[in-house]
Amino acid sequence: MSDACAENGLRSVEAAKQMLIDSINPITATETIPLSQACGRVLAAPVLAELDLPPCDNSAMDGYALCGEHNSYTIIGKSLAGHPFSGTLEPGQATRITTGAAVPTGADRVQMQENCTLDGDQLSMSRPAIPGENIRRRGEDVHTGQSLIPLGAKIKVPHIALLAAAGVAQVTVVRKLKAALLSIGDELKPIGTPAAELGDGDIYDSNRIALQAALEQLDMDILDLGCWPDQPDKIRDAFVQARDHADFVITSGGVSVGEADYTKTVLQELGEIGFWKLAIKPGKPFAFGRLPKAQGETLFFGLPGNPVSAIVTLYQLVVPALEKLRGTAELHRQAPLQVRARLLNDIRKKPGRTDYQRGFTYRDEDGIQVVETRGIQGSHILSGFAAANCFVVLPREGGDCETGDWVTVEPFTAPLK
Ligand code: AMP
Ligand code: MG
Repeated sequence: MSDACAENGLRSVEAAKQMLIDSINPITATETIPLSQACGRVLAAPVLAELDLPPCDNSAMDGYALCGEHNSYTIIGKSLAGHPFSGTLEPGQATRITTGAAVPTGADRVQMQENCTLDGDQLSMSRPAIPGENIRRRGEDVHTGQSLIPLGAKIKVPHIALLAAAGVAQVTVVRKLKAALLSIGDELKPIGTPAAELGDGDIYDSNRIALQAALEQLDMDILDLGCWPDQPDKIRDAFVQARDHADFVITSGGVSVGEADYTKTVLQELGEIGFWKLAIKPGKPFAFGRLPKAQGETLFFGLPGNPVSAIVTLYQLVVPALEKLRGTAELHRQAPLQVRARLLNDIRKKPGRTDYQRGFTYRDEDGIQVVETRGIQGSHILSGFAAANCFVVLPREGGDCETGDWVTVEPFTAPLK
């Protein structure tokens, strides 16, 4: 994997994302699961409606089902949701009807009850109902046999409602991806270690649990391989375990050019790896590779160790790659939402890298979407990240921004929220 696409030594975020997506083949294994477990999974086989929706003409209102246009009507019965009227209306006849109840045979319109006056069994109204008024037609939503969701769609709450309404109780989805997670660095201590036991310069391994929290939102099976020292033989053991048990491995730390970064040596032994310098801030170093095995291969994503960089590169690059791996279709339409917002503070920026500053965006009292950056914009500053709800995306070639400028904002969405 050469760095041939790199521009001025740095590869753009867009090019890196596209290269990842283009070089990954989706897994094809599927499983059939109950609809109740399907939210967030990727549809792998067509789902067809078992019936028309609505299944019959029914009322959109509480009121009266009417036959023809008359000055008054004679009430001859009622049609309630779950209890249809079994007779047939003749001209000038009406039934009481509730929302969702079947429109009786012969009725051609429904008058809402607010417009009606009842005198014994005689119904009159303040204005006539027009033909078809307040009738929800059979099949106007879905036809029997219709394909309900495109293949490769990520199943969301509205899909669940649609599938259930159409009589679908189970779906075939792409099987869950298996992730292996590990951290690399002599200075890392597992969370839970008493602070008093940390040596000079030691820090908690915060990346692994944050990455795990993110991947869990993507419905993956996660193998947590823990943290590993900067020692080639140990790192090799970790990578072999990851390769043998997972579809992909995500590491953090050990991908920069520092002396203790053995990742490269070990990976070159085990497979094919490219070390990229990305035009992204925070998060310049990034590694992507493949570890071949008896059956297929395991993908390797090496994230920078700095905590903000690790999460930003996960979000901007690895998540789209994983979506491709699990068969999500139309990836270009799945890119995170971007909106314009007015900047509430000045920003310093040097041209050369796309900057994902951490900010907080909201609508002000005048209804204008505004954004202010949060905290020092360092790749190790987690407090500002934690106080943010969006990235302020500053284009690669742009420079400083001033208060009042309109900037691009990317609100945090899953798996960041
Ligand atoms: P590296 O990529 O190994 O050069 O690490 C860059 C910075 O990220 C260093 O300050 C590391 O201490 C820090 N770092 C590396 N791994 C982690 C981790 N798992 N959790 C928190 N910080 C880390
Ligand atoms: Mg390190």
